[in-house]
Amino acid sequence: MKIAVIPGDGIGPEVVGQAIVVLEAVAQKFGHRFEFQEALLGGAALDVKGVPLPDETMEICLKSDAVLLGAVGGPKWDNLPGHLRPEAGLLGIRKGLNLFANLRPAKVFPQLKSNSTLKEEALGEGIDILVVRELTGDIYFGEKGRAKIPGGEKAWDTAVYTTYEVERVAHLAFRIARGRRRKVTSVDKANVLESSRLWREVVSKVGEQYNDVELNLMYVDNAAMQLIKNPHQFDVILTTNMFGDILSDEAAMLTGSLGMLPSASLGEGRLGLYEPVHGSAPDIAGQDKANPIATILSAAMMLRYSFYLEEEAQAVENAVSKVLDQGYRTSDIATPGAKIVGTKEMGSLIAQNM
Ligand code: NAD
Repeated sequence: MKIAVIPGDGIGPEVVGQAIVVLEAVAQKFGHRFEFQEALLGGAALDVKGVPLPDETMEICLKSDAVLLGAVGGPKWDNLPGHLRPEAGLLGIRKGLNLFANLRPAKVFPQLKSNSTLKEEALGEGIDILVVRELTGDIYFGEKGRAKIPGGEKAWDTAVYTTYEVERVAHLAFRIARGRRRKVTSVDKANVLESSRLWREVVSKVGEQYNDVELNLMYVDNAAMQLIKNPHQFDVILTTNMFGDILSDEAAMLTGSLGMLPSASLGEGRLGLYEPVHGSAPDIAGQDKANPIATILSAAMMLRYSFYLEEEAQAVENAVSKVLDQGYRTSDIATPGAKIVGTKEMGSLIAQNM
């Protein structure tokens, strides 16, 4: 299996390095062979090639089965014009890979309950939610503009969805729910928005093909409240581009720790992009302080969603849990009495616990 590896900037190389240590442990334990090919993106690419997304990087990614990305950006490149900023490379690669769904798990490990902003009783035994956000439609890509009117200006953005766009992401969410607790909550604003009414109709129709999965329909304002009030009711949350943007951050903060949050972006085939939710953390870069778990859990998602290696994915997630049980923490998730370790030691401990 070919994996394009894009360390990026700041703590990117440190956390990606540890994800590779863990993937190598997976290869050894289960008898697989992963072929890693490194590529440049963001500031690292600007320094060497003068552009944030070199053509070679795109070619390497398109020839791979999956892409593992650290993070990009940093103060060194902050004053460049928009098209040369590291983030332009990130947006370019997401677009070039034709990804249409973003998957963001929000899982509260029982060992880290005290890091959550919710009360212990609201968390119960822990929370395990997966937000599936559509990435190609909605208000971000519809017609937009500004015009002068008497007394000022007007501005507009148009939310657009097609049947096809909703169908493909809905099928993905139902298929994923089958490998979890078989429950999909589709979130929209169908009481007000026409694009949401189409969304609701299409999701309901697709849902009829998955009799073994329970489908609930919820308005976004209610979903925002329910996430805080009773997060246990959710398994897979399927939602539009804009509502997903907001709800995935809200769900993520139930866990209370940026260093623990993985993500995956998927397209039509098995090629996916796997990256931690956090950025390049220039304030701690190069100090062996970064928490590599978000990237290691992103690698577990790669095993699950691009390589269909469920047992291997679970082995990585279990190893993370075991290391937390043993009391090891990086400083961002440290609790009183914890054994504080650096990036490298955390990676090695997880690999050893496989
Ligand atoms: P950030 O996520 O990099 O950092 C926010 C805070 O969280 C910092 O205090 C940082 O030290 C801490 N942190 C983040 N990840 C951590 C980890 N794994 N372990 C321990 N602590 C961690 O966000 P920011 O400071 O707003 O942005 C820094 C740079 O990253 C900017 O250039 C920004 O553009 C870029 N960025 C990139 C991405 C991406 O590549 N996907 C995402 C967000 C921000």
